[in-house]
Amino acid sequence: MAKLALVGAGHAHMTLMANIKKFIDQGHSVDVIGPGERHYYSGMGPGMLGGTYSPQDISFPVQRMCEEQGATFHVDSCVAIDPEKQYIKLKSGKEIPYDVASFNTGSSIVNDPVEPDAKDIFTVKPIEKLLEGRNRIFELAKQETLQIGVVGGGPAGVEVAGNALAAAEEAGANATVRLFHGKSFMKQAPERVRTLSKNVLKKHGVEFIGGEYVDKISTGQITLKDGKTYDEDIIFVAMGVRPRPLFEPSGIPAGNDGGMLVNKYLQSPKYDNIFGGGDCIWYEPQPLDKVGVYAVRQNLVLYENVMARMSNEPLHEFNPGGDYLLIFNTGKNTGVLHKFGFSFNGRTAFAIKDYIDSKFIDVFKPEYDK
Ligand SMILES: Cc1cc2nc3c(=O)[nH]c(=O)nc-3n(C[C@H](O)[C@H](O)[C@H](O)COP(=O)(O)OP(=O)(O)OC[C@H]3O[C@@H](n4cnc5c(N)ncnc54)[C@H](O)[C@@H]3O)c2cc1C
Repeated sequence: MAKLALVGAGHAHMTLMANIKKFIDQGHSVDVIGPGERHYYSGMGPGMLGGTYSPQDISFPVQRMCEEQGATFHVDSCVAIDPEKQYIKLKSGKEIPYDVASFNTGSSIVNDPVEPDAKDIFTVKPIEKLLEGRNRIFELAKQETLQIGVVGGGPAGVEVAGNALAAAEEAGANATVRLFHGKSFMKQAPERVRTLSKNVLKKHGVEFIGGEYVDKISTGQITLKDGKTYDEDIIFVAMGVRPRPLFEPSGIPAGNDGGMLVNKYLQSPKYDNIFGGGDCIWYEPQPLDKVGVYAVRQNLVLYENVMARMSNEPLHEFNPGGDYLLIFNTGKNTGVLHKFGFSFNGRTAFAIKDYIDSKFIDVFKPEYDK
């Protein structure tokens, strides 16, 4: 009989959460810590912003899913870990003891230029913020004009710009969307994907502001480093992600970006009873992109290894796999697809994304929530 703690109820923990009953049946206890009763699937988040999906379509009732299998779900967040005394400290002050723990605390959006207390600013993560942004677009749609700024020239900025425009059109707003991409645009994407994404957004009416970085984001205004200002009614922030600073301050070895260092078994090299997956880890064998694709690929090994560690069985190696399919949702049910050096855009690209994402939802969403 041992105590298992799952910290974070996100993509990388889906298989573990789906198999809680197996741990309980073996006499173990399971505590799950997550910030809310539902978890939103980020791949479909921009589609929710654009009105393709409802919030219910793209989220899992994680609290109920865990509790009905016998786990204790804490709507709370982990603020520190004591890996020597083996307990997790929660924001509420509660302490959760564990024998084995697995971390899936994801990442947060870089928001350094955002002024404290600035209003109508929506980071693109947690995904619930996109819903708040959509609601605000509808609230302000009756204004004579609606100006929406999106800060960040990466995939999330592209998806949010296209879908913010779709939401504004659905709301009947006389809207303009400006994408602030600093000195580069989609710099990690192949040239053709960059061109296709830019062309499709321009065709939809998105305006590109580049050449200078954003310095300050305040209520109703974006200021560039050269001092130029732009008035915006609503601002989405998609400036890249970083793991939450949780591990190093707790004495758990971390990688270059502060993510928890894990070996080929997705296990902390220092504490063999601590595992992790998704955006919150630094995978020692090779750097991994912070994309849901890896969180999904890690699901099974994470489950198998947590189970193996609790049963004193041998661990399995994680295989990151090769090239992955990239599809960006550019709004109005269009997308840009790239795989093996081949790229195209249009409705078919979005239809393929919708099919893949819906399959993921279907696997883990309980029947009563569909
Ligand atoms: C707008 C947008 C669109 C994206 N689209 C795609 C896509 O199409 N395909 C793709 O591959 N990737 C996509 N990504 C990237 C993808 O979101 C991440 O790589 C993925 O979510 C990582 O999964 P995860 O399991 O690590 O974290 P998450 O799924 O984010 O789960 C982490 C969970 O832990 C919780 N948590 C955080 N801190 C704590 C704490 N201290 N205590 C307890 N719980 C905590 C979080 O609230 C969250 O519920 C997108 C990202 C964004 C922002």
